[in-house]
Amino acid sequence: MPALEHAGDESTTPAEKPLFGKYEVGRLLGYGAFAKVYHARDVHTERSVAIKAINKQRIIKGGLTANVKREISIMRRLRHPNIVRLLEVLANKKKIFFVLEFAKGGELFAKVAKSRFSEDLSRRYFQQLISAVGYCHSRGVFHRDLKPENLLLDENWNLKVTDFGLSALTEQIRPDGLLHTLCGTPSYVAPEVLLKKGYDGAKVDIWSCGIILFVLNAGYLPFNDPNLMVLYKKICSGEFRVPRWTSPDLKKLLSRLLDTNPQTRITVEEIINDPWFKIGYKEVKFHHDYLELKADDEDDDYYSNSDSDSVSDSGSAGTVSGGDNLKVMNAFDIISFSAGYKLSGLFDDGEYGERFLSTAAPEKIIETVVAVAEGEGLTVVIKREWCVKVVGGYNCNFVMTVELKRLTEQLVVVEVRTKESEVGSSNRIWKDKIRPGLSNLIYKTGPAGCC
Ligand code: ADP
Ligand code: MG
Repeated sequence: MPALEHAGDESTTPAEKPLFGKYEVGRLLGYGAFAKVYHARDVHTERSVAIKAINKQRIIKGGLTANVKREISIMRRLRHPNIVRLLEVLANKKKIFFVLEFAKGGELFAKVAKSRFSEDLSRRYFQQLISAVGYCHSRGVFHRDLKPENLLLDENWNLKVTDFGLSALTEQIRPDGLLHTLCGTPSYVAPEVLLKKGYDGAKVDIWSCGIILFVLNAGYLPFNDPNLMVLYKKICSGEFRVPRWTSPDLKKLLSRLLDTNPQTRITVEEIINDPWFKIGYKEVKFHHDYLELKADDEDDDYYSNSDSDSVSDSGSAGTVSGGDNLKVMNAFDIISFSAGYKLSGLFDDGEYGERFLSTAAPEKIIETVVAVAEGEGLTVVIKREWCVKVVGGYNCNFVMTVELKRLTEQLVVVEVRTKESEVGSSNRIWKDKIRPGLSNLIYKTGPAGCC
């Protein structure tokens, strides 16, 4: 594979060969905590993209495998005009490459650092920010690290929010409903985070949006001090002064955003109805392509989450008659099925995935999987109409889940995921024992397990 081994290494020299034969990698755009971000051009379409190259070893050593997988599964769910889109994920032995929509205009705050924005311009960017944040919140995704470096601009000077590496999904919220990790950048962090009481991700994002709005209008931070302890005190006191050019309506909104009490702090709904905010606000209308995939592919607790109703709610392919409990794939499911999103194998952690199409009836597929697995001495732990999970092997080190999704009236997508923890096993139980037993069911399989 003509993979670019240099991207993300210490050198910043552009590559000679296209990455994966597809992307010509150019200049370094910026640094993240674990990654370098490069400009690149798709050699086939000429489209500009940003490639975030992450060194696998650093991720593995830092115990951050789950974070990276989470960032991927979060970003692939999000489709909003003011959110940087994840186009595909590629990997070679050393690195993982996130191919992202390119934000040509760079960082928003590079602009505000030159001179503060007018009230109208501040409003325009704040409206775009709230639209993106509201969209995420309604899908259970909180950014938790909204700050200048993560606000980019596209070629039309529209806002693009990026960097969902620190986001937490609602599933990770503790039983008390609050998030507990301390994260974020001090100047933008809400008081309840500093007080380490546990917090509501939505309220924390609103506070950060308040700081961002303040900075856009003022050109400086509302709470600032070189001494961290003094800064924390200032944030917790919530006392700030708006510059004299601030209109009364904006002043009022800022005081509701920067309310130190999360319970009384303004909500996204209230912001949208605020008189200052409302001026010229155009709500984003979602095309059906903007539908999200609700089931999280990377969730260990996969089957308990895979509620068939929740997906068909979000816009099923209308041509398929309902009736069975199979998830019906929508346009976004199909896009997400592209090889670019395959996460298994990213870290050589024994995970493996494969998909095939079948014309067999779902019951027949499940029955066959169960029969073959039991014939190999494996134990069925979950069995439903549309999924089955088996475990077994030496020390129960092999786990396999098979899920069915209806593609058309005739075709069912069979998604098989296996994990075999024995080092170097390469999922032999699946490949040598189970797969051959299912060969009669397979209608078509594609490269890299993609249909
Ligand atoms: P990290 O998650 O490691 O903090 P980021 O995603 O924030 O990394 O990227 C680091 C920097 O790279 C950003 O602050 C920005 O300057 C640049 N960058 C990231 N994504 C893009 C993009 N899609 N288009 C243009 N520049 C980008
Ligand atoms: Mg960042």
